[in-house]
Amino acid sequence: MPVTAEILIPLALDTAYSYAVPHGLSLAEGDVVRVPLGPREIVGVVWSLEERPGGSNLRPVSGRLDVPPLAPALRRLVDWLARYTLAPKGSALAMALRLPDEAAARETIRVGVRASGRPPARLTPARAKVLEAAAGEALHGKSALAKAAGVSLSVVDGLIDDGALEAVALAPEPVALPPDPDFAREVSLSAAQAEAAATLVAGAAESPVTLLEGVTGSGKTEVYFEAVAACLREGRQALILMPEIALTAQFLDRFAARFGVRPATWHSGIGGKRRERIRAGVAAGEVAVVVGARSALFLPFAKLGLIVVDEEHETAYKQEDGVHYHARDMAVVRGHIEPCPVVLASATPSIESRVNVERGRYRRIVLPERFGGRQLPDIAAIDMRLDKPERGRFLAPPLVNAVIHTLERGEQTLLFLNRRGYAPLTLCRSCGHRYQCPQCSTWLVEHRFRRALVCHQCGHTERRPEACVECGTFDSHTACGPGVERIAEEAAALFPDKRVIVLSSDFPGGAETLRAELDAVAAGECDIVVGTQLVAKGHNFPHLTLVGVIDADIGLTSGDPRAAERTFQLLQQVTGRAGRGDRPGRALVQTYQPGHPVIAALLSGEAERFYQEEIGAREDAGLPPFGRLAALIVSGTDKEAAERHGQALARAAEPPAGITVLGPAEAPLALVRGRHRFRLLVKTERAVDIQSYLRDWLARGPKPRGNVRVQVDVDPQSFL
Ligand code: ADP
Ligand code: ZN
Repeated sequence: MPVTAEILIPLALDTAYSYAVPHGLSLAEGDVVRVPLGPREIVGVVWSLEERPGGSNLRPVSGRLDVPPLAPALRRLVDWLARYTLAPKGSALAMALRLPDEAAARETIRVGVRASGRPPARLTPARAKVLEAAAGEALHGKSALAKAAGVSLSVVDGLIDDGALEAVALAPEPVALPPDPDFAREVSLSAAQAEAAATLVAGAAESPVTLLEGVTGSGKTEVYFEAVAACLREGRQALILMPEIALTAQFLDRFAARFGVRPATWHSGIGGKRRERIRAGVAAGEVAVVVGARSALFLPFAKLGLIVVDEEHETAYKQEDGVHYHARDMAVVRGHIEPCPVVLASATPSIESRVNVERGRYRRIVLPERFGGRQLPDIAAIDMRLDKPERGRFLAPPLVNAVIHTLERGEQTLLFLNRRGYAPLTLCRSCGHRYQCPQCSTWLVEHRFRRALVCHQCGHTERRPEACVECGTFDSHTACGPGVERIAEEAAALFPDKRVIVLSSDFPGGAETLRAELDAVAAGECDIVVGTQLVAKGHNFPHLTLVGVIDADIGLTSGDPRAAERTFQLLQQVTGRAGRGDRPGRALVQTYQPGHPVIAALLSGEAERFYQEEIGAREDAGLPPFGRLAALIVSGTDKEAAERHGQALARAAEPPAGITVLGPAEAPLALVRGRHRFRLLVKTERAVDIQSYLRDWLARGPKPRGNVRVQVDVDPQSFL
């Protein structure tokens, strides 16, 4: 009987397409194939095979690609991802299937050169220098040799052509050397760490998911390294997920101190050729440990034995475009599919994970104290109603004094403000004109280093004009409120002979340079760091003893149901940067609401009380994880058309008992990149299969026309 193959194509298509399998081609599920689609050929994956009569009118599969098939675990992950997020199945496949692009696949052959002993036909001074540098038996890299001799590469090439140097092809360097679980022979864990590590390793069979909760500086990393070691001893692979920017040299060196070599890393800065080699190494089981950002979750591990999600509470794990997925949740899914244990590590776990512990779905291992008898920082509030900064300044006198004392002791200060740029709003003193993005409903943020006004939503950039664009008055612009650049300016004015650095995600030079700067800060190469949330994420700065929070109230007023949780986590994390080295740390928190429950919990150190209150509040309100949420974002360039479509969707919602549909309401970010946005929010009881309801509703409901688009965000983390 003829065989039909269902081929899933990595494009935004929800169903697999049927193709005939031609005689002589034997296919298996997971094989990567070429198939005709319309006038062109495209790559897809065999999702299922079926013998069935007829099918003669189907177009045939063109052929199989000579690449490893997509493993069953990854195919199940793709199915799961698509079902859960409502993303088209093909889009989910695209995350797991990265085809080697031609250029990346062409392996460059590394060449070493050495002196052949034969004299060159012609000897110039430049050539003599090269031969001198190449004297002996050793092999040299071509460019290294040219550099050592201080000549151009063409001189070296000329000597090769002449026969005076011989070129030898070298084996490609492995992408990662095998880590040795027993490299650090005497791992000196504290008693608490050793106990936690033993529990973590021993109990993994019965409790596949563990929440490893330890205060900042408790040494969670050392503890989960023991789980990695146990996994390696079994000959299996481990994946450590981190927020992208936490992948610093400092972390990789800690790994190397424990395992002898640095792990393979996976993040957006890894280039095409290297990506392909890591992917191949992972698929062959040769790369034993990958430390990576969220997309590493879709790597084709051959024998995955452990997934660690470090800083599991981080919002950066949620992808907010394309397929809207949460990498922490998908890590748990992948662990279930493989199967392999999953460790979620955090000093400030998400409410979701804490509730999963209470429900008995995850187990919890706690490290209540800092490593090495170090104290948690002493946290105090500065009541901004009483201790006002000078006019036009943002650092209150008590904070300035604390910085002075810290500098006197030769220690580092972190001034934390979660706002990039110089000032979040620019207005004209003369006419009151406010500078707004032409395509978004956001104020333009002044960036003084770049001498520009920038939209943080779409990136629109314009020069800061000399005269008001509205009334033409010269020099009438005022910067309203502070961003990190403005705080840095104030710090530099107060302490002109100290080294001040600003660290935020728009640091010139991108993520790589930023990682290098973070390493420099850790090495003590600056006195005052002014930074956004990016410096709060799991970094270890041993010389840092003072943290000043410029505006603790920023996050409290947003309409986000997780506002309290997020603010608590962020403040706890950032204050936790202080005193991780030998000297004790302290934190000063500038606030107008010292009595707010979040601030009060932070000051008193009663994290547990905060969690219990917050969990209670979520339960009362039926919010996640006690109920489910999904958002539909309807957008279009024509405001009326987008709103009309939102209303038509709402009319078709017909929610049964247990489901509420709210909206459409104009989104807080009402205009982004020229598209008007409306939001609908679906709220259900926990027992409801929200995906089935959404699928059914969208199938029944009106289809968007023109350029109106509907994005589905299951379990939204952002409500903007
Ligand atoms: P956490 O991730 O829990 O905030 P880390 O794992 O970064 O904490 O550890 C905090 C600090 O304590 C780091 O400087 C780390 O090197 C040190 N540390 C933790 N455990 C040990 C250990 N067993 N031996 C030596 N140093 C340790
Ligand atoms: Zn914009």
